[in-house]
Amino acid sequence: MSNRDLKPQDIARKTDQLVHIDPNELPRLPYPYQDWIDPEIEALSEAKRKNRDVSLDGVTNLNVPVPATDEEKEKLVAKFLDGLHKLLSKENNWTFLQPLMLSLENCVKCNTCSAACPIFNESGRIEAYRPIFRSEVLRRIIARYVKPGGRLIAPFTGANIDLNWETVARLAQLSYRCTLCRRCAQACPMGVDNGLLSREIRKLFSQELGIAPQELHEDGTIKQLETGSSTGITPFALADLMEFMEEDITERTGLSVKMPFDRSDADILLIHNAGEFLSWPENIQAFAIIFEAAGLKWTMSSDLVGYDSVNYGLFYDDAQYVKVTLKHAEVARKLGVKKVVLGECGHASKSAIAIGDRTWLADANIPRESAMVTLRDVVLNGRVKVDPERNNFPVTLHDPCNLTRAMGIIEPQREVLRRIAPQFREMTPHGVENYCCGGGSGFAIMQSHNFPQWRNAISGRRKFAQILGAFSRDELDPAVNKYVCAPCSNCKGQIRDMINYYDAWERCHLQYGGLVELVVNCMADVPEGFIEWDEFH
Ligand code: SF4
Ligand code: SF4
Repeated sequence: MSNRDLKPQDIARKTDQLVHIDPNELPRLPYPYQDWIDPEIEALSEAKRKNRDVSLDGVTNLNVPVPATDEEKEKLVAKFLDGLHKLLSKENNWTFLQPLMLSLENCVKCNTCSAACPIFNESGRIEAYRPIFRSEVLRRIIARYVKPGGRLIAPFTGANIDLNWETVARLAQLSYRCTLCRRCAQACPMGVDNGLLSREIRKLFSQELGIAPQELHEDGTIKQLETGSSTGITPFALADLMEFMEEDITERTGLSVKMPFDRSDADILLIHNAGEFLSWPENIQAFAIIFEAAGLKWTMSSDLVGYDSVNYGLFYDDAQYVKVTLKHAEVARKLGVKKVVLGECGHASKSAIAIGDRTWLADANIPRESAMVTLRDVVLNGRVKVDPERNNFPVTLHDPCNLTRAMGIIEPQREVLRRIAPQFREMTPHGVENYCCGGGSGFAIMQSHNFPQWRNAISGRRKFAQILGAFSRDELDPAVNKYVCAPCSNCKGQIRDMINYYDAWERCHLQYGGLVELVVNCMADVPEGFIEWDEFH
């Protein structure tokens, strides 16, 4: 059966692999990649396939088990059904029951969402990746197995999906073939949110079957709560790291800039995604240079979890989300700051600012702000002196879904760029219409099995095409330095991985980084050359 003929009921078929990704079916990329054909997605070894289910599409970022016996399968299916009942009950899912029900009940199958979904379109329109495919599977399971009398009337309601282990295992995988970018939800005339449905399925699997990507759960939330950060950096190691970063600033710029921690008189608590400490320390350094130059009274925290804004529970599990967000709120309350500024990280901003409205309560209800807004105020009010000529190279801007579509933070970062980057140009489309980088909902940090290949080739493909499209043919020449500004730690990770996958540093000299690096690069009081062009990082 071809990928394009699949119907929701096929999810229950007893085949080794339901979907076969054909690199020749993927849409062609623009210049200079017109002849680019992706390699076949590498198959998992026989040994790996024995331990984890990949029967959806041969791809995995999850350790979905392979039950040895029919009894085991039945047990897992029963657990899934139990979880589904909970997902649909007010007592167990008071947080999202209402939007979940609205999304389950209001789809009129117009398929407007399909045109909006980058994963569906960039896969060569694989039916199983259509936004309403997984939603329809869920709807039919509920109609047949949860609603009273559902089994009896199933032949008349079209609820024709068999709830077997194949269905359950593939649905788990399908919930991770969606970046939760919610472009589909924005396009839907009925207000249906297929991204929310994916996320609720993830929650069910996490809470009832203990199935969640290791990078999000064990190496994410659990590590963060136990060691202090999802990178494993402990408060003790952080002190050393900061000392090293202060020395590095002096070496690079000649400036003596302190990284303040736990200041009792600070107005602002700045929290970074801890991934920056290891992968992009220049981002943390740039914040420190700007905040010091602007004369802000700011601090970071060295408390457990207080120096890592990551909250991966947002992507897969409310219970895990709450544990982390309460820690963040407590750290801010203890410091007595007037405001919390979230560094360049989209999901962390949404966790603390938007969803935080429900969890940062009473005396922990401290104002929170995206760094985009803080930077806009600093740069446009002239609190740092800038020389835009230093940034006179082509710059384009990636809009992180959580900052833009989810939170409406569109203009502040543009106001800064218009001020400091004479050759700033938009991608098409942009703002709330943007495309996800392809690493949304935690995909960017998922490096296991063959998943990175899938996300670079498919979930990030539209973004990569958009990046290329932002520059002229002449500008794409490797002799021209060009910069993709991605003010989000996870988006940067995905863009870095795509530049590697498509060999775009060698072929186009495509560099990427945050917004603060561009600001510092043109600060008149900082020696030239903060952005380093001679190597890709
Ligand atoms: S756009 Fe909305 S109503 Fe139309 S098919 Fe998609 S989810 Fe259903
Ligand atoms: S949330 Fe994004 S990736 Fe998921 S179905 Fe909707 S458009 Fe596609």
